[in-house]
Amino acid sequence: MTKPRVAVISGANQGIGFAVVKELCKSFDGSVYLTSRDEHRGRTAVEELEKLGLQPKYHQLDIDDEASVLRLRDYLQATYGGLDVLVNNAGMLIVSKDEDSRELFAESARSVVQTNFFNTYRTCDILFPILRPHARVVNLSSSMGHLMQIEGQNEPAITLRARLSSTDLSYEELIQIMNHFLESVQRGDHPEYGWPKKNWVSYVASKIAVSAMTRIQQRDFDADPRPDIIANHVHPGYVKTKMASFKGVLTIEEGAAAASWLAMLPPNNVMNPKGSYVWHDKQIVDWVNGPTPSLY
Ligand code: NAP
Repeated sequence: MTKPRVAVISGANQGIGFAVVKELCKSFDGSVYLTSRDEHRGRTAVEELEKLGLQPKYHQLDIDDEASVLRLRDYLQATYGGLDVLVNNAGMLIVSKDEDSRELFAESARSVVQTNFFNTYRTCDILFPILRPHARVVNLSSSMGHLMQIEGQNEPAITLRARLSSTDLSYEELIQIMNHFLESVQRGDHPEYGWPKKNWVSYVASKIAVSAMTRIQQRDFDADPRPDIIANHVHPGYVKTKMASFKGVLTIEEGAAAASWLAMLPPNNVMNPKGSYVWHDKQIVDWVNGPTPSLY
């Protein structure tokens, strides 16, 4: 007997992830897992959707905890024999203040880059072996993750953009670039290596890394014996969520629209979007050469 299809959304107890679960519960042909790092918050969110007549399933997932990711993988393998949709939505933002010490700035950079990039990368590393043919992977990037956030025509910025956008970029090199970024933040000289001099540079760097990672993932999927696996990275828009201090312009449902669409791209014959940077209105944006659409 064929096992049902299964979708997993990380960081889904609130915000955009919650709205992706809501949409997939309506439109995805299979089981939809709302996951959260905190079980109580996750189960409360499930109850909220049940009140709307939807039937999400629940599993704990803290991407900062390797054992938690391994438990989810083993559960999916045993229950479904694989995974069909993975939405890497979990993420965090710390905006440093001007008066923060360099140590505090470096510490928050480590947390942001660790969760948003390194631990998303590790989650993929653990879950990708169980992806089935036709699987869809959606990575939540941001407009802040556009390569053009590394601005200017000075030599370090040109070199950094060239390395990150290289079609030969490997995971090893990307990890090396991000470790070097954290070391330079610790020293306070990251602008000398092309990184923007902004209080939210760690978020920018983490999301640029998520986007660069997605391009490598698609290159690998193109060579994978499992056919038709697609990964895309998405900017959900400026969305009214806790992360945006509820100041965004889009509702969580609007912010979830592109991610949900990418999660349910039909099997076979999708040429585009594929390894693409997709905006919340579903337009495909050139991640390397821009321009960034003026749309939030
Ligand atoms: P949010 O409402 O703050 O939700 C973030 C979710 O991620 C929460 O459920 C949070 O759990 C979870 N999370 C954080 N660390 C986690 C971990 N280690 N393991 C598992 N879950 C974790 O933010 P959002 O705006 O919906 O953001 C969702 C994604 O969209 C993020 O990747 C964000 O960077 C991206 N994004 C958002 C905007 C925007 O305008 N809102 C714009 C561009 C990109 P807790 O509830 O337990 O904290």
